[in-house]
Amino acid sequence: MSDAEVSVHPFATDDGLGLNLTRFRRGDCDDVVLLLHGLTASIDMFIMPEHQNLVSALLDNGFADVWALDFRMSSRLPYDTETHRYTLDDIAAWDHPAALREMRRHIGDRRVHVVAHCLGSMSFSMSLFGGALDGVASFVSNSVSLTPRVPTWSRLKLAAGPGLSEYLIGLSFMDSRFGEAPPLTRGWMVSRLVSLFHRECDVRDCHMISFMWGSGHPALYEHDNLLPVTHQRIADLLGPTGVHYFRHIRKMVSAGQAVKYDPGDPRHAALPDAYLTRANEVTTPVLLLSGDRNHVFPGANAACHEALERARPGRQEFASLPGYGHIDPFIGENAHIDVFPKILDFLKRQAS
Ligand SMILES: [Zn+2]
Repeated sequence: MSDAEVSVHPFATDDGLGLNLTRFRRGDCDDVVLLLHGLTASIDMFIMPEHQNLVSALLDNGFADVWALDFRMSSRLPYDTETHRYTLDDIAAWDHPAALREMRRHIGDRRVHVVAHCLGSMSFSMSLFGGALDGVASFVSNSVSLTPRVPTWSRLKLAAGPGLSEYLIGLSFMDSRFGEAPPLTRGWMVSRLVSLFHRECDVRDCHMISFMWGSGHPALYEHDNLLPVTHQRIADLLGPTGVHYFRHIRKMVSAGQAVKYDPGDPRHAALPDAYLTRANEVTTPVLLLSGDRNHVFPGANAACHEALERARPGRQEFASLPGYGHIDPFIGENAHIDVFPKILDFLKRQAS
């Protein structure tokens, strides 16, 4: 990110939360890029100093004005560890539309391209295809969009996890750093129990993250794709999260597609009950990505490609990422060789 001017842009959502946009600007550019992290992550996943990160790759390839949003799921913000009942509908209705409004105050009507990961991608897909925002020139989604698919073990965790955590263990959130909790506290015991089932490495934070998200050893990435320093500091990149989101994901997994958590909630009356319903009205080109070793949402973006092709033929592409899992397409040592060129190629075709 050398030579980039970095500025922070705080703004408020319509339901009263304070969020942050960070801008990396090397000059004026007709095509502006917005990056969205996944749940428990933050914009740090795009600006890691230990590898050639996505912000640098964009700036070096002619996208001279890059923005990254910390929305309410960000581990840089306090909301994940506060007691709350947020759903993905709240994010779709309030976070992404407010972020784009704030960006527009600075960039006017220049083209905006969005690159998003995990539940940042799912919630943004809900905003885009649910009609909560418009004027997006193109959209790149990694891992999951509007058709979540999860392994059987994850289904069980989605069903039992929130109740067990909130009512039996007495915790409204899970923290990847529970391994560092004082001995015999609830967090410490959860971490030690989880580590009994994870012998693949000696990083307790890595075990907790596998337990919190997905089915695998590890679940979110291939160990071989990460630099050792990234693996050691993985809890910097993937922090704590409230467990209530699992209930909405469970509902969507059961439905086979993104649906509203509570169709009777008057605050979200403007959003469709099922987010694919109006997909044919949205013309934004979409690139769907997924690692072929994705153990969090395996097959989800391939299924979304099929669903969108039925609704709006020819407006989306799918690319498999051989050897990659769920988040290593962004945080992996060689992501700049194996993954970023696919994103850049798509963006350049949409930009011209
Ligand atoms: Zn590990």
